[in-house]
Amino acid sequence: MPTLLPPPQDHLVSLSPSRAGRSLDFGMHVYVHVPFCARRCSYCDFAIAVRREVPSAAYTHAVLREWALWLDDPVWEESPVIETIYFGGGTPSRVSADGIAQLVDQLTRERSLAAEAEITLEANPDDVTLAAAASWRAAGVNRISLGVQSFDPGVLQWMHRVHTAEQVPAAVEALRCAGFQDLSLDLIFGLPADLDRDWETDLDRAFALGPEHLSFYGLTVEPHTVLGHRAGRGELTPVDEERYAAEFLAAHRELSRRGYDHYEVSNAALPGCRARHNSAYWKRAPFIGLGPSAHSGFGRERRWNVREWAEYERALQSGGSPLAGREELDEPAIQLEELYLGLRTRRGLPEHRIPSPLRSAWIGSGWAEVQEGRVRLTPEGWLRLDALVASV
Ligand code: SF4
Repeated sequence: MPTLLPPPQDHLVSLSPSRAGRSLDFGMHVYVHVPFCARRCSYCDFAIAVRREVPSAAYTHAVLREWALWLDDPVWEESPVIETIYFGGGTPSRVSADGIAQLVDQLTRERSLAAEAEITLEANPDDVTLAAAASWRAAGVNRISLGVQSFDPGVLQWMHRVHTAEQVPAAVEALRCAGFQDLSLDLIFGLPADLDRDWETDLDRAFALGPEHLSFYGLTVEPHTVLGHRAGRGELTPVDEERYAAEFLAAHRELSRRGYDHYEVSNAALPGCRARHNSAYWKRAPFIGLGPSAHSGFGRERRWNVREWAEYERALQSGGSPLAGREELDEPAIQLEELYLGLRTRRGLPEHRIPSPLRSAWIGSGWAEVQEGRVRLTPEGWLRLDALVASV
């Protein structure tokens, strides 16, 4: 749910085996996971804690304790400057404005923040008031990712979303009034046909709000969700492949027609407005994840925190670390990660990374093209992303 200038592209270099485990970007990116939500959406299997009242002070205190543990970590030697901060969740807009301000202040107190740093906060429309928006802006947040998902009241109800369709334009107006010039809207497509959702109308309503960025995700029905249980009882007919593909391709066409750059399988932006934080993941840049269930990555190394908020808070309160595990990726895992991350973006991969017969077959089928020595998947290719990666 997931930003200002596009990431500079020319400092990216082709991977050689000797550099494959290293990060290709020297800025640090910080993700702060906020686990709290007012209730669980029907499709959600994220690590969240459902709370009527968010324990903002306890949460802020715990995250700052974790941050203190990171300050002496050698990861800063190669990446001393923070380029992006992303408050994701969960529902970060439910943390008190003071809590967000305190977090931004402390995260940037002992480490330098890049002059053009991107600071994103995910918000649900029902949490956005002019006062809240102004306080996020005053705290230094300069990008908002708004969880819209649909403008259809029946669909919002089916998804167990807490907001109404009418709250979306009101939220956008408040954010614009508060000075936000970089807004992203999230939509979900690929819903079961019997909901009768009109995807093109939802797209039109999103574009009418003039977002700089749009994220659109296909619905996946995970086993341990409300939808998963319904599917298990035979009460849910998943969307058929044809409808899913038609909606994805309709979004691509409409985005292109309106001047958006569909730069990653699920993301599109007006020129200069790509999401820099998410782009950092796709470039395998170094990132620190704070909060329950957050992951961190530096070159080959991966670390992850305990999943549940209560366990996370307990570990930090007792003076310990919330770290649940760490591993070093081996060469095949790195290669697979690069392949997957490269193909999901319009930047693609150097031509030589895809064996020639396979490349020709993809191009012949309309799933890929080669430009400037790089293989890029087309939207038709993105519909088959997992299968194409598996075939390499
Ligand atoms: S708001 Fe997001 S994180 Fe929270 S329950 Fe809904 S989908 Fe999950």
